[in-house]
Amino acid sequence: MEFLQFKSLFTEIFKSNMLESYITDENIEKFYVLTRLMLEKNAVMNITAIRDVEKIIPLHYADCALITPYISHSSKVMDVGCGGGFPTLPLAIIRPDITIVGIDSTEKKVKYVADTAKSLGLSNVSTISARAEELVHMPNMRESFDAVTSRAVARLNILNELCMPFLKVGGQFIVMKGAAGQEELQEAHNGIKMLGGQVILNQNTDLILREAETEKRVIIVADKIAQTPKQYPRQFGQIKKKPL
Ligand code: SAM
Repeated sequence: MEFLQFKSLFTEIFKSNMLESYITDENIEKFYVLTRLMLEKNAVMNITAIRDVEKIIPLHYADCALITPYISHSSKVMDVGCGGGFPTLPLAIIRPDITIVGIDSTEKKVKYVADTAKSLGLSNVSTISARAEELVHMPNMRESFDAVTSRAVARLNILNELCMPFLKVGGQFIVMKGAAGQEELQEAHNGIKMLGGQVILNQNTDLILREAETEKRVIIVADKIAQTPKQYPRQFGQIKKKPL
């Protein structure tokens, strides 16, 4: 897609999702380059099943931008299971005030995210290839982040144990879910509490694609109000077998 067509589409989609403040020439140029790099890489490895630029803008970029109001200024953020860079890369573009660490257990995806961040000049991105439940035992990881984000990684009653231990007391766990988010929250409420969290927001949102086409999203935010007990996270086999 030509740049001018991309610009007009991006502007239309961000406006209809009330994300006007992110419509700047600099951001649009970065998202344009990101799209090109992602689609090029997608030909040789599986980064996204969405290959149509008209869908990439709402389903990847606007979707990730929807959580920015819940990330405090200058936060140190971890994105658990960043895969091909979502929400890591869009957040890093539109929120230059934050630093974000994208972690994923698949090394080649993490390398792609690191290379892409470099090509885009995003000095606020770093990456680690590791499993979340193992990485948290490394120095400067546990209770060290102001916010932890995650999209499409695991059911919430499993995800909470992977993510909550990274958060400082006072930090926020920001979860991006589809229509099943409310149901997942019912089953995860107790676990979030056991891990030191308290759900403060549970919001249904319509992500607007184009021409009145929408998809349901649920954004869940939990405050970390107490330290996570030392016995968590457990090994992944146990987390999966007996979610909290
Ligand atoms: N967040 C990205 C997105 O929304 O496009 C990627 C989603 S992809 C479906 C899920 C990713 O989570 C995969 O790349 C997988 O390797 C990663 N993942 C799953 N369990 C993980 C764990 N315990 N620690 C780190 N990464 C994990």
